[in-house]
Formats: sequence, C-alpha cells, structure tokens
Amino acid sequence: MASDLNIVRPEVKQLTPYNSGLTIAEVQRRYNPRKISKLGSNENPLGPSPAVVSALTSYAANSHIYPDPAGQALRTRLAEKHGVAVEQIILGNGSEDLLSVICRTILRPGDRMVTLYPSFPLHEDYTTVMGAEVDRVGLDAALEIDVDLLLAKIGTGPRLVMFANPMNPAGAWLKPDDLRRVAAAVPAQSLLVIDEAYAEYAEGDGYLEAPDAMRGKDSDWIVLRTFSKAWGLAGLRIGYGIVSTSLLTGYLDRVRTPFNTNGAAQAAAIAALDGEAHVRTVVELARTERERVRSALEEAGYRVVPSRGNFLFFDTGTSGTDISEALLAEGVIVKPWKQPDYERFVRVSIGTAAENDHFLDALSKTRS
Ligand SMILES: *Cc1c(COP(=O)(O)O)cnc(C)c1O
Repeated sequence: MASDLNIVRPEVKQLTPYNSGLTIAEVQRRYNPRKISKLGSNENPLGPSPAVVSALTSYAANSHIYPDPAGQALRTRLAEKHGVAVEQIILGNGSEDLLSVICRTILRPGDRMVTLYPSFPLHEDYTTVMGAEVDRVGLDAALEIDVDLLLAKIGTGPRLVMFANPMNPAGAWLKPDDLRRVAAAVPAQSLLVIDEAYAEYAEGDGYLEAPDAMRGKDSDWIVLRTFSKAWGLAGLRIGYGIVSTSLLTGYLDRVRTPFNTNGAAQAAAIAALDGEAHVRTVVELARTERERVRSALEEAGYRVVPSRGNFLFFDTGTSGTDISEALLAEGVIVKPWKQPDYERFVRVSIGTAAENDHFLDALSKTRS
C-alpha cells in the first residue's frame, strides 16, 4: 500500500484542515465546566424566530419529497427584497457552498485571486484547490484595510477578487467611498465577489451594502449573503448569491449540485424573511453588546479592531491559542487565529449579555 497517497492532488495536500471550532459536547467532555458560552462561531445567540420553528414543524411531514432544485419560492422573495431579477439569485448549501461553486466555475490553474488578510480560510482554500494563487492584502499598522494596496492589486487584473466585507475575522470594513472605488477599479476581465455574511449587523452604520455599490457596474460581480448569522439558521445550511447577470447565474447553476439546498432550509428561510422584526432584535443586541465588550477589553488594555460584525478580534499580547485554552477550561469557547502574523489574536463572538460577562470574567482570570 502506498502510504504517501500519491493519488491525492498536490493542491489538496497543501490545505490545512478547517479550524471549525469546538462543539459544546467536546468542551463538556474535556473540561466539564459549570456552564458553557459558545462564542467561537459567530452564531446568533437568540436563535431563529418562532415563525421559523413552526415552518420547520409543518415541513417535516414532506421530508420524503425532493426539494425544488430551483428554490423558486425563496429566490422570488430574495429578488423582491434586493430589487433584482429572480435569475440573478442563486441558492447555496450555506454561502460556503457558493464560494466553492464560484471557484470551480471561474478559476484556472495559475490564476490569481486577490483577497483581504487575515482572511476567511475558505476563500483561500477553494482557490488553492483549483491550482490558483492567493494574493493577500494585509491590514495596515492601524489595523485598517489597506485600500490603496487593494486598489493597486485589483488594477493588475487578477481573475478573481474575493473578500468578506465586513471582514472575518477582523471585523474591519470598507468605508462607503472606498467600496465604490474598489467596485469601479475591478477590470472587465476580473470577477468581484463580496462576501457579506455580516451585512445585517453593519447596515445603516457607516456601511454601504455591496448590491448598492454594484449597480450600473459593467464588469461581473457576485454578492454573497447567508441565513447562518443574523437570521439564526446556521444548522440548516442556506445562503445565497446576488449575481450581476442571469448569464453568469446560469453557469454557476451548472456547477452546483442540483439539490444543493434542502427543503427544510428553503422553508425556514422564507419564514425567516417574513419575520424581519426578529432580525432587528438580534442586530440591536449584537451592536449594543459589541460596544460594551469592546470598551471592557480596551479598559483592560487589549488592542481591539473596530468591528461591524457580531464579533471582535483582539490582540491578547501573548499566544491566542494559550488564552483560548484557558478560556475553554472556564467554559468559554472562542476562536484563536492561526494565520501567520495573527497568532496573538483571538476572535470572540458577541453573545447574550450573560455569555459576554462569562467571557470577560474568564478572560480576567487568565491575567491573575
Ligand atoms: C459565517 C461566514 C459565512 C457563512 O457561511 P455559511 O456557509 O453560509 O454558514 C460565509 N462567509 C464568511 C466570511 C463567514 O464568516
């Protein structure tokens, strides 16, 4: 038996396993803490709206029927919400599915993909798998997006420009004028993909939503959204893309698996859209608590990146992994960042007030 598995493509051997964060069960087993606060995956601490729960209950008896592969009902709702044609909406099994579909549709071996760094690892991984190269634009010394460097790299005409805005893990975001400059700078031979997983938390707060920045643009673009964060459906796996043209949607459609989004997720997403008031409550809590936690961290002497997401990225001043392990022993799950230059940083999601207090209290114990 060949133990070095030469059957596996070298591009795949280059990948590191996704750092998906610990489950509650795993922390229970390892530390058996008094209580657990799960602040490692940017989930919505209030869960889905009651309307979602009843939609799922009614759906259950239809589980034997294949879902609508076109997701017509949900796509129609999303097209209305965003003021685009139904043919400009594509659904994904989470937006991570669409990241993979986009890379498989667009990237050739040797192509270049420009992204912001520290980055959402999947943007890089799906690029690497295609044999394309990742070109990173790091934060500047003030921990803000280096817009000039980003514009310069975009000007060189990479096949793909793909980043999260607000950024994950940093939480930094492109100011409205900068986003307009970026959108205008992308040349016709490049595709711009803006992953807006956290847009709901940023809306109306010195933030320009990407679909608004893209209107009237000649070159192609895709804006990704997800139901996993503010809408509270992470366990169901559903996200979507708003695509510049129906022609491009049609090619992405050929690459995705036909039944990539399941029926329960489609039904739940429609019910979630019916209950916008719930999302407003979720966002309000996240914004208020984010600023409270940020002040507390800064008062304790930590450097914190200003954030428009439901999370904060801060410099622990020491090993982020060690701090995270000490927090785990106290029952607090956070995400230590593992990418080069950011190993001292930890990303903490904003939970309920009680969960955030649990985190701040556990963190203060690591210093005494
Ligand atoms: C959480 C997140 C997603 C969402 O992924 P899903 O597959 O929709 O759950 C996508 N992009 C970024 C940057 C994220 O942080």
